[in-house]
Amino acid sequence: MSIDFSQDLEAPLVTTSPTPLDDGEFSLRPRTLADYTGQEKAKGNLAVYIEAARRRSEPLDHVLLYGPPGLGKTTLAGIIANEMGVKLRVTSGPAIEKAGDLAALLTNLSAGDVLFIDEIHRLNRAVEEILYPAMEDFAIDIVIGKGPSANSIRLELPRFTLVGATTRAGQLSSPLRDRFGVQLRLELYTKEELQRIVTRSAALLQMDIDPAGAAEIAARSRGTPRIANRILRRVRDFAQLYHDGVITRNAAAHALGQLEIDQLGLDAVDRRMLTAIIENYNGGPVGLETLAATIGEEAVTLEDVYEPYLMQIGFLTRTPRGRCVTQLAYEHLHLAPPGQQQFL
Ligand code: ADP
Repeated sequence: MSIDFSQDLEAPLVTTSPTPLDDGEFSLRPRTLADYTGQEKAKGNLAVYIEAARRRSEPLDHVLLYGPPGLGKTTLAGIIANEMGVKLRVTSGPAIEKAGDLAALLTNLSAGDVLFIDEIHRLNRAVEEILYPAMEDFAIDIVIGKGPSANSIRLELPRFTLVGATTRAGQLSSPLRDRFGVQLRLELYTKEELQRIVTRSAALLQMDIDPAGAAEIAARSRGTPRIANRILRRVRDFAQLYHDGVITRNAAAHALGQLEIDQLGLDAVDRRMLTAIIENYNGGPVGLETLAATIGEEAVTLEDVYEPYLMQIGFLTRTPRGRCVTQLAYEHLHLAPPGQQQFL
């Protein structure tokens, strides 16, 4: 039997945002804190704030969630709304172009609603300024007319909870950041946590998976549930065609090999990035922009998506003068560190 997987294989597994391949992802999203695996610190704090707000019958304070893409920020916003028993409205920084767009969104909220703004660091200045009084005083000032006859009127808003998500809290202006009473940082997941997530997703998708298969996928998902779920779907295809429909370690390793994802979850971009630092810059330091130009990727993608995992596994360090690879990276790529060429 010959099946063309090329289209599927070309779609990147590592991206900054959801892709059409994540269709049905919504059904995999946990709806309650109890069902949300990992992130114990953020989850523990949030559970206290939610319960306290509920007892006071008040909306939850504004929440800022930050961390690399695919770690569950959008999911957590949904859980907050669900646990508070209120409605969730979803938008994103780049989608709100004008101050009026945000004013329309805010005036349509009901008391207690959660407004989720993804990529909140990408709000433009004029829009951000509307948000300050909205968050602090639950009011917005609207200017009517132009020039000397312009008049500003204040519109009261219902009390709402803003949940903002960003890949880097440092990118937010400090007036905006300071208006979030709750700031939670999401961390990359451990292999054990990812294994639980993969097992849970497989059950929801009615897939037959054994623990070793789930562990293999978890180990190669770079600490990120979105990637784990994507890999799971692709492994299922290979399992159905070549492994009697069961996701075993073998089936997972077969699919991941075809997808060119290595034992540690590194893909072609990771390898290009590390190899470029080694071959073109003698192991570093090299500035991010220069590195991005060298391998033809966007600097922000490298910084937000690739670096957190490479740093976590100790392959990359950030120094004031740029990025450097470590001895571990040389070993993984079977390349000799400078000065040790004679050993290989
Ligand atoms: P982000 O908003 O941070 O980019 P998402 O909330 O969209 O990430 O999560 C990506 C996917 O990962 C979702 O489909 C969700 O099902 C899954 N996911 C994220 N966090 C968890 C978790 N803690 N437990 C189970 N699944 C999770």
